[in-house]
Amino acid sequence: MDRPITGFSLDEAGDWTATLNCGHRQHVRHKPPFENRPWVTTAAGRESRMGAMLNCVRCDSFELPEPADVVGRTPEFTERTLPDALRTNHTTAAGVWGRIVVTEGLVRYQVPALGVDRDLEPGVPGIVVPEVRHAVEPRGAARLHVEFLRARPR
Ligand SMILES: [Zn+2]
Repeated sequence: MDRPITGFSLDEAGDWTATLNCGHRQHVRHKPPFENRPWVTTAAGRESRMGAMLNCVRCDSFELPEPADVVGRTPEFTERTLPDALRTNHTTAAGVWGRIVVTEGLVRYQVPALGVDRDLEPGVPGIVVPEVRHAVEPRGAARLHVEFLRARPR
């Protein structure tokens, strides 16, 4: 899915990477003649690309950014106390990842835009991708909570 560029940094090898608003990083090398991005070599060029979209395949594959820090969590919910807002299609804010942790029972996890409809259980958490609609529904008696994470700034 497309994600806007929020910053640039050099990696250990001295190659430019773009940071996207999901927290993932992606190489934006200038290595002619194979990769031609002369703009990345100047501060003005990089500035001109802030907010430009790059396709993030790591988001498409539910990959949490590394490293990421837990920045919050919900209370423990049961099938009776889970808020309606989490059961129906909803999203997290830009840059906010979630991890649905089931400690008892089975919970259906649906992410229509990414073709996911599966059951979560203890030991099988669900990853919530920032700004992507999803729905959660306990199948009978269940206990679960959600942890919120953000990529650690470099
Ligand atoms: Zn991403």
